[in-house]
Amino acid sequence: MDLRPDEITSIIKEQIRNYASDLKLDDVGTVVTVGDGITTIHGLEKCMLSELLEFADGTPAMALNLEREFVGAVLLGGEKNIKEGDTVRRSGKVLSVPVGEALLGRVVNALGQPIDGKGPVLTEEVRPVESEAPGIITRQSVNRPLQTGIKAIDSMIPIGRGQRELIIGDRQTGKTAIALDTIINQKGKDVICIYVAIGQKQSTVANVVDTLTRNGAMEYTIVVAATASEQAPLQYIAPYAGCAMGEFFMNKGRDVLCVYDDLSKHAVAYRALSLLLKRPPGREAYPGDVFYLHSRLLERAANLSAEYGGGSLTALPLIETQASDVSAYIPTNVISITDGQIFLETELFFAGVRPAVNPGISVSRVGGNAQIKAMKKVSGPLKLMYSQYRELQAFSQFGSDLDKDTKERLAQGERVVEVLKQGQNSPVRVEHQVMIIYAVVNGYLKEIDVQDIPEFERELYDYVDMSYPEVVGAIRDTGELSKQTEDALSQALREFIGKFLSAR
Ligand code: ATP
Ligand code: MG
Repeated sequence: MDLRPDEITSIIKEQIRNYASDLKLDDVGTVVTVGDGITTIHGLEKCMLSELLEFADGTPAMALNLEREFVGAVLLGGEKNIKEGDTVRRSGKVLSVPVGEALLGRVVNALGQPIDGKGPVLTEEVRPVESEAPGIITRQSVNRPLQTGIKAIDSMIPIGRGQRELIIGDRQTGKTAIALDTIINQKGKDVICIYVAIGQKQSTVANVVDTLTRNGAMEYTIVVAATASEQAPLQYIAPYAGCAMGEFFMNKGRDVLCVYDDLSKHAVAYRALSLLLKRPPGREAYPGDVFYLHSRLLERAANLSAEYGGGSLTALPLIETQASDVSAYIPTNVISITDGQIFLETELFFAGVRPAVNPGISVSRVGGNAQIKAMKKVSGPLKLMYSQYRELQAFSQFGSDLDKDTKERLAQGERVVEVLKQGQNSPVRVEHQVMIIYAVVNGYLKEIDVQDIPEFERELYDYVDMSYPEVVGAIRDTGELSKQTEDALSQALREFIGKFLSAR
C-alpha cells in the first residue's frame, strides 16, 4: 500500500485529536494544601458533592466544599503520604459502604471495613452513605411496637417500629444502657440492630461489644465504630454509614433498629471539620447547616407501607446534655427532629431510681398507637400517678401529720417507683410487665414492703408462669387483657400475695 506524506500527517493528527478526547482532563486534580485531615484541590471542575476522590496512593477522600476554582475535601485515611502537587482522581461515585447479611455480628469502621480481626466482610453489595429519605407515599403510620423490655419505657413512653425517639441526659446517666438493653431485648424478635459509636473511647466500644456478645445479641447486630481517636471525617460519616446498612435490610422488608451514640459528639466532629474547611461559624461555632446534619439522618427512619415491603427503621439517637440543659443548641435541634424523648436525670440516677427516666418530661408522640392493647389498658393511670406522687412527696416533706388519703397515695407512689426500677441487661417480657403494672396500679401491692418488691416481682413471674400459664399466653397471643384474663390475673395475684406474705 502506498501512502502519501500528507495522508500520514492527517492520520497522525486524527489520532492525536481522538487521544486527547479520551483523556478526561477534568477528572484529575492537584493538591494545593493538605493538613488537619483537610485538603484543597485544584482542577476537579465537575466534582460532585460527597463524591469519593482517590489519591495516587489509594487514600480516599470526600468532597465537601465545591468552590469556583477549588474543591475542599476531607481525608478518610492517613495524610502522611499526601503532599502538595499530588494528583487526585475523581471516582464518579458518591461515598458508599458495604451492606448485607455478612455484616451481622461484625464490628466495622465508618467505611464498613472490619476492625474486629475476624477477616474480610464477604459481601458484594454497596450502598451510598447518603441517600434520600423515603417519601410520604411509601410510608405508613407507626403501628407496631418496638419492645425495649424496660418497664418504665414500654409502659409510659412506648416506642413503635419506625419511630425516632431521643434518649437525652447528662453524662453517666444510663443512656447507653437503655440503648443496649433495647438491642438485647430484640433477641428472637427478628429485628436487625445497628449500634453506631461516635467519638467514644475505644475501651467503651469494646465494653459494648462485650455486653452484646455475652447476651447473645451480636448475631443480629452490626457495630459501626468511629472512636474519639479517629479523625473527625470518619466520625462525621459513621451514622450515615450505619443508616445505609440498616436501609438495606429495611428495603428487604425487615425491621431495623439504629442507635446513634451519640449525636452531640457527631455535631462536634462536624463543627471541627467545618471550621477547618473555613465555613462560617454560627451559633456556638456550629456551621449553619448543623440542623440539616441530623434532620437528614433521622428522616431516614421510616415504617414502610406494605406495598413497599413493610420494613421499618427505628432510630434511637442519644444526646448528652451539660448540667441538664435541654435548651442548648444541639439538644433543641434534635428534640425538634424526633418523635419524642426519654429524659434521664442525674438526681434520679443517684437516688437509686434506675433507669433514671423522668416520666414528667419524657414523651413519645407516636408510639402510643403501637402499644399492645393490654399494656395501654393497664398503664393508662401510671404517668399521672407518678407525677402526683412526685408533687405530694415534695409537699409532704414539710408537714408531719398527713391525712390517710395522702399517706395512701404516697405509699402507692413509692411502690410505682420501685416497680419501675430495673437492673441492666435484664429485659422484662411485655406479658410480665403488664402483670406487675396491673398489680401496682390497682393497689395489690399495698401490703408488700417496698424493699421486698424486687423479690416479689421475680417470684410473681415464676408463679404465674407455672400456675396460670393461660394468663401469660393470652396476653402474649392476643395482645389484649380480656375480662376473663383480667379475672384470672386478679385471682393469681391474690393467691400469690397470700403465699408471699405468709412466707415472711
Ligand atoms: P456516658 O455519658 O459516659 O456515655 P451513659 O449516659 O451512656 O454515660 P451508661 O454508660 O449507660 O451511661 O451508664 C452509666 C453507669 O450506670 C454504668 O456504670 C452503668 O453500669 C450504670 N447503669 C446504667 N443503667 C443502670 C441500671 N438500670 N441499673 C444499674 N446501673 C446502671
Ligand atoms: Mg454512653
